[in-house]
Amino acid sequence: MKIEYRNSTGLLAVIGDPIGHSLSPLLQNTMLEMLGEDFIYIAVPVPAGTVADFVSAAKTIGIRGFNLTMPHKEDIIPLLSEMTPEAAHCGSVNTVRLENGLLYGHSTDGIGFRRSLKDFGRDYPGSIVTILGAGGAAKSVAMNAIESGAKEVRVVNRTLARAEALCRGETNMRAFSLSEREALLHDTDILINCTPIGMTGVGGSQVPDLSALKADALCMDCIYSPAMTPFMEEARRTGHDVGNGIGMLIYQAIYALGFFLKREFGEDTVTALGERLFSVSGIHPRGL
Ligand code: NAP
Repeated sequence: MKIEYRNSTGLLAVIGDPIGHSLSPLLQNTMLEMLGEDFIYIAVPVPAGTVADFVSAAKTIGIRGFNLTMPHKEDIIPLLSEMTPEAAHCGSVNTVRLENGLLYGHSTDGIGFRRSLKDFGRDYPGSIVTILGAGGAAKSVAMNAIESGAKEVRVVNRTLARAEALCRGETNMRAFSLSEREALLHDTDILINCTPIGMTGVGGSQVPDLSALKADALCMDCIYSPAMTPFMEEARRTGHDVGNGIGMLIYQAIYALGFFLKREFGEDTVTALGERLFSVSGIHPRGL
């Protein structure tokens, strides 16, 4: 990847805390170079509770857009001028475009995850989707699944009240406690881990027993580090097709760049950018 800077070069960023591990600068700068766009993309550490300070600085120095990761995806909402329906529906924002001093918020996690399913020959319409976890990732994935035509979305969470809050007001979405999760497996078409269990640096070994999972179900983990998680190992043990969260990361980044640039990438462009990013990230979506 070659980064060139001129006085005209636009500045994009990702903010979060911690942010040192972020793959976003590598992914975005690779795409900017591929597309010949005159922008550079940097990582900026922004501590919890200080997103308003960052926004003020971003306006001053003319940052044109930024991605947000933990812990800012909800804190940014009161500072926005406008939100896309996707962001409003999941109550979370991972992409902001700055234009004439105004902030436009969008969420690309759900659509990014959906696009990653296509690499496994799957999609939501008509499917029963079971999601483990009810945090930010689960919310984006669940809302996109239901909007995309899933027959039913089940949200299983340690804190039942949080799953119930996520499902409230949605038809075809139901909340379950952890003790009920094995009973949901026999007719689940797509099982998605949206908890951090198994992530590098995170303890916990409460991976579900997947023996009862429908034989042709796909198991996806939102985690991509490590590339092969305990949840994926269990799915392999029971003979299921498995994938990790690198596809979600890559495709959310592609749709985020489209939002920054006000460009709607066609399927061919998304595929070409995706192939390049899988190769530079060095993480195989199937965790091989
Ligand atoms: P979050 O908002 O903190 O939510 C975490 C969820 O996991 C909560 O529902 C929590 O349950 C549950 N949980 C945590 N520890 C648990 C445990 N020991 N046992 C059972 N449940 C547990 O996190 P998030 O932002 O949704 O992220 C979740 C995972 O997705 C992380 O590993 C993150 O790295 C990954 N992610 C990946 C991408 C990508 O692009 N691939 C994007 C976003 C997130 P309670 O409600 O009971 O606390």
